[in-house]
Formats: sequence, structure tokens, C-alpha cells
Amino acid sequence: MYELKQDWMPPERPQSYCLEDYEGGAPRWCPGCGDLAVLSALQRYVRDQQLPPEKIVVVSGIGCSSRLPHYVKAYGFHGLHGRALPVACGVRSRRPDLHLFVATGDGDCCAIGTAHWIHAIRYNMNMTVMLLDNNIYGLTKMQSSPTTGKGHYSNTHPGGAPLSAINPLLTTLSITNASFVAQTADWNPPHLYATLAAAHAHKGLSFVRVLQRCPHFMAGYFDELQKDPSLVRLLTHENGIAVDPAVQKAFPNRVEHDPGDLAGAMKFAGDRETHPIGLLYRNDQAESYDTFMASGLGTPANVKVAAIERELDRFTI
Ligand code: SF4
Repeated sequence: MYELKQDWMPPERPQSYCLEDYEGGAPRWCPGCGDLAVLSALQRYVRDQQLPPEKIVVVSGIGCSSRLPHYVKAYGFHGLHGRALPVACGVRSRRPDLHLFVATGDGDCCAIGTAHWIHAIRYNMNMTVMLLDNNIYGLTKMQSSPTTGKGHYSNTHPGGAPLSAINPLLTTLSITNASFVAQTADWNPPHLYATLAAAHAHKGLSFVRVLQRCPHFMAGYFDELQKDPSLVRLLTHENGIAVDPAVQKAFPNRVEHDPGDLAGAMKFAGDRETHPIGLLYRNDQAESYDTFMASGLGTPANVKVAAIERELDRFTI
């Protein structure tokens, strides 16, 4: 007679994930919002990499873009305004095994979160930071953000924003220990995808500014860039972001730029006439706080626990 051996187990099949495995709640962004393209690129990328959803965490602050963790079926933290980066650093310090993505907006990162932005870049902990920059506060209905261009109409400045905008690329490049700075655009999905892939592959903090359309409050703001490709400079290099022919066709204004050249990166980032798309800067040798955390900053775990116990004992009744 046929019978199963006592120790027989069904063969283990490799788990394979499809897009639906990464889909969270239904996005509540406006139709045509650039945030949808970022969400889609991220979901496709983690699916292509077959990253287990339970090994992914998406952290955000407050703003339209910061709703992104709700729409990814993974761990997520929709935090306080401007505080995405310190939360992400905390996650990274305790869970080096997780794939960590941060969604932040120009209001979230470049206004209330500026101090955290500067220090997170300096800490250079391993994470992919996506700055979804639509040049306006969308969630609070068209108030000027730090990246709103001078003279641009907004609800807080009906006569036009009076100050020049912050340049997030130049600012990040100028922060000590910056290790990966790139720019992409929501309307070019292949480049967006390739940029996220390169950013995730980088060991350290990768800062990706996404030029993001807000058709509701900044209708037509990026039309000029889309209609006139000469206004966009595609940065290419063997050490840069690999782009397929479709991207090269969309951005025919190409220039070779070695991402190891910081001064060159700052020149492209500060150019007022053309917008760079691609990898501006990468330094694989930059120090990372992850290394110090892994070494316990020189203090063994049992010594730390004893110190905490001593502190707690002070409050024992
Ligand atoms: S207000 Fe703008 S940024 Fe916010 S969801 Fe709508 S289109 Fe997107």
C-alpha cells in the first residue's frame, strides 16, 4: 500500500509577490497628482525586487505626499509634521534588516523639518528619502512653501511669494556627509523607477527630489519643462543612473557628469536656466551612523541595560 513517510513534508515553494501584495488603501490623491506616479514606481520596484512586504517600512511626515504609507501594504508610520526623518533614523537604528523608504514633501522637509533634514543627511543612515516637491502646500490648500518660486501666487501671498525659493538640491549637497543626491520627475516613469532603484541600492541616505505635479493647486506649473525638453538636462555617466532609450528620447539634452564631482553637482543644481535630471552626487565612502550604531557606540549592551535599570530604580517607590 501507498503511504506517506512519517517525516514527509510538502516541498517548500518560493514565495513570489505580485503588485497586489503591496497595495494598501485606495489612494485619495486628486486625479493626475504626481504622488500617484511615485507610489506606482515604488510598488513596482519592490515587486520586481521581491522584497517581502513585512520587510518594508515607509515613514512620512504630514502633507499630501505623506499619505503614501497608507497606500503601501507594508509597515508604515504616518507621523508628525516635519518629523519623518528622526522617526526613520530611529527605525533604522533598531531594525537594520528593514527596507526603509521615507516620503516627505517640500513643506514637511524644507520648512518645519529643516533641522531634521540637515542632521539626517549628516547621519547618512541607510534609507531612501523621496522629497515630493510640488512647490506648494497642497494639503493646506495652496499656501506658499519654501520651494514656491518668488512672485508665484498663493493663498498666503496673493500678491506673489516675496522671497526666493530654497533649492533643495543645493542645500542637500552642501550638508556635510551627503552621500547620494538625485533628481527625477513624476512624468517620466522609467527615470523615476531607475532613480528609486539606484537610491535603494545605495548604502547610506539617498536623497531623491521628485519634481511632482500638483494639478489641483499648481496646474500647469511643470508644463514648460514637459513641452520644452531643452530646459531639462539629463545627467548621464557610467557611475550614474542607467537610463533606457525611451528616457534619452524624452530628455535629448544630455550631458556627461561624473557623480563623484561635488563642485560639478553644485553647478548643475544651482543652474537657474535648466533643471538637472539624474544622479548629481554619490560618495560611497561617506561615514554612516549605522556603523556606529552597530558597534554600540563603544558601550556593550549589558552596560547600557544596567544604566537604564539604575535610572529606573531611582523612581521605584
Ligand atoms: S492637492 Fe495637489 S499634491 Fe495634494 S493630492 Fe491634490 S494634486 Fe496631489
